[in-house]
Amino acid sequence: MFKKALISIGLLAFSLGTQAEVKITLSSKIKNAHEKAIKKDLKVLSEFKFSEEGSEDTLYYFGIESLTNQDLEEWLDARVNWIIPETEMDKLKIVEGEAATYPDNGVPVVETPDLKPQGKGVVVMSNIGTALYFAGKQSKKHMGLKIKTSMFNRDKVMIDSPRTGIIMIGEGLFMRRLQINRQNDDSVANSLGRLQTMFHEARHSDGHGKHLGFFHAVCPEGHDYAGLNACDRNMNGPYSIGASLMKEFIKNCEECTEGETEVMKLVWIDSLNRVIKDTETIAENTNVEIKALEVDIALKETVLSLASTEAERIKITAELVELKKQLKELASKEGLLQVVPSPILDPAPESIIR
Ligand SMILES: [Zn+2]
Repeated sequence: MFKKALISIGLLAFSLGTQAEVKITLSSKIKNAHEKAIKKDLKVLSEFKFSEEGSEDTLYYFGIESLTNQDLEEWLDARVNWIIPETEMDKLKIVEGEAATYPDNGVPVVETPDLKPQGKGVVVMSNIGTALYFAGKQSKKHMGLKIKTSMFNRDKVMIDSPRTGIIMIGEGLFMRRLQINRQNDDSVANSLGRLQTMFHEARHSDGHGKHLGFFHAVCPEGHDYAGLNACDRNMNGPYSIGASLMKEFIKNCEECTEGETEVMKLVWIDSLNRVIKDTETIAENTNVEIKALEVDIALKETVLSLASTEAERIKITAELVELKKQLKELASKEGLLQVVPSPILDPAPESIIR
């Protein structure tokens, strides 16, 4: 079988006389057509004309002073370095290295979803570099990953920080029904759609301690994705990044048709709606009933984490949903429910200590 050589995408963009570059190494296992599409997407990014200045939110979330191709390329370059296809996942060669010292600043609490996505899920993209860094931090080992690049020797990537930027792409990224323009595969709008996904994923390469990787939160009751792990409980996470970028694309796209712009607006709103602006919590209290319920919930959550069958998991999850509902009703009756606005988190990444 013909093996593609490792390719390093080096794109030059000239902006105000300076040059930016997004260097991404693609696994040799990526399909030809997909490789071509990714290269095109990066070219679209380097040539996209931002005629209007970015909104204040966009500049703030991205930590940039003005919206230029160069700034966005540098942003992406710092966070996405390797791309591997989903098909490589089952033969993923994880290297468990030596003991390593990680910062003593805590780890994220991964929210347990109440539901599983309906139907057969399709993978679009996932930041596995950050997932491996997190795993390494928990086991206090230096993790690495072997990536097939066939021609060169750089196939072992050691994961020193969430910024390692190993991104896995799935069929969903290129699936026609998930594109902005389903009639014209090559449209610029389709590249813009994939770019917003890539920038979303890139944000998972940020953060430290309790918000390492900007992990998603479970969407609240009443939300379109209620019970699913598909929201952010902060104002500047992956969904905000994706939404901000899409908004700027919509504002500035000269080539986009009316139909494409309509779909882009839906993508923008979908991302925006996944940002939970505030969270209901229970104020400090000495209410015995509330304390008892909280103990019950904590206990059930432990039982859930130990459940071995799917049937068991479904049963316990339903019980948990019911208990949480009771707790909320009780707290509300006692006037103890308070609304806490979601924070803007410090995106600075962490790394292993040498
Ligand atoms: Zn995400």
